[in-house]
Amino acid sequence: MSESQSLNPEGIVYLVSLGCPKNLVDTEVMTGLLVSNGFFLTMDPDQADIYLINTCAFIPSARSESTEALEEAQAWKEEAPDERKIIIAGCLIQWDKQESYRKQFPIVDLWTGVDQVPDIARLLKEIKPGLNYHRNETPTFLYDEKIPRLRLTLPHIAYLKIADGCDNRCSYCAIPDIRGDMRSRSLQSVVSEAETALNNDATELLIMAQDITTFGDDREDNEDLSALLLEIDNLKGKNFWIRLLYTHPAHFPQKLIDTIAARKHVLPYVDMPMQHISAKLLNSMHRRISEADTRNLLRRMRKGIPNLAIRTTFITGLPGETEEDFKMLKDFIIEQEFERLGVFSYSPEPDTPAAGFPDQVPHALAEARVAELMEIQAKISLKKNKLLVGREFDVIVDFIEEFGAVGRTYMDAPEIDNVVVLENICDLTPGQVYKTVITDADTYELTAGLKD
Ligand code: SF4
Repeated sequence: MSESQSLNPEGIVYLVSLGCPKNLVDTEVMTGLLVSNGFFLTMDPDQADIYLINTCAFIPSARSESTEALEEAQAWKEEAPDERKIIIAGCLIQWDKQESYRKQFPIVDLWTGVDQVPDIARLLKEIKPGLNYHRNETPTFLYDEKIPRLRLTLPHIAYLKIADGCDNRCSYCAIPDIRGDMRSRSLQSVVSEAETALNNDATELLIMAQDITTFGDDREDNEDLSALLLEIDNLKGKNFWIRLLYTHPAHFPQKLIDTIAARKHVLPYVDMPMQHISAKLLNSMHRRISEADTRNLLRRMRKGIPNLAIRTTFITGLPGETEEDFKMLKDFIIEQEFERLGVFSYSPEPDTPAAGFPDQVPHALAEARVAELMEIQAKISLKKNKLLVGREFDVIVDFIEEFGAVGRTYMDAPEIDNVVVLENICDLTPGQVYKTVITDADTYELTAGLKD
């Protein structure tokens, strides 16, 4: 009998968190609540009697991943059906209005949607046959700094989800349907959570939501993202970084550009999905911004924020995307030379307006366009990286491997962007920022040594 079992926990939970960092925060909140309600955690499913999967349903590949995870959990439970329980939580339940997963996996003991995150411990204790499916049509849950949360990332990384849901209603996107209307936390709640994270070893705070540039719009206290950054930037702490994820070009005010440029801890890094540049597609996708305004914003951002690194994403194969539209996108990427770039192929999401648009593009063609753009970006990335050789950069160390320390520059978000390897240097402290000199460059990786 393990030590944990001898202490009689309410249950021993094995966790699987799928999808984006926004979903990870929900997993962290559920984990905090479970631990504070007497449940134990394990990294080994064989030691567990509860298998909890927080699912993602954003696009077909995410749903396939959720299905695979469910199948693994099913096989796990079949080994000891009377002793083991499966809990499926999160976006998949919100997305699956027809309850097809529920029909496909009757072995699952509890289904919970987004609004049940704060009730997870109670629902787990109260599982009853026939009362095991909980889903609110329009989620409203928003965590705050008072809800226990157990960070599951590297100790120096803290994701701060400042809002949930989205009101933008891009015509191809299922997220507003899955996560509900946009709702912001109060500024003080986020600042208080940031302070706690800094007092508990965090050195990089990642500000995120579905669209952080709408932060505060739904509230009456006149606070906005710039005001929030100002407050967090003023917190006492070590040499910490603030990184901005998921902004929207249609509402990126000059004030925010000035704030990023002026604040000490806010990195000159902006994640801003643009999705396309063809005026026709920007319009049909309901992106609320024109081609000219996108270019104008980029000019102002580059001018206003020295050494800015922009990460963006584009979608190929949007309904109606012609060869001419695709060429515009290709030329735009070549012209702008974004520091970081991701490309997705469009897939029609049920119940979204774009799924019913005419001129759907064959998936194979959309995928071929993804490959073409990523090939272009690889060349841009290699060229830009080579220009960094010999230059000095602050690098935050994430972990130490046998071959050396692995970290990132300000241009790189964890698990999304590039890495820097400090070869044969193992006596560094993860979470600390070091002065380095870049010695070699590959397409998506840099090599560096410590600055003398
Ligand atoms: S802004 Fe992002 S999350 Fe919101 S609807 Fe558009 S693509 Fe979806």
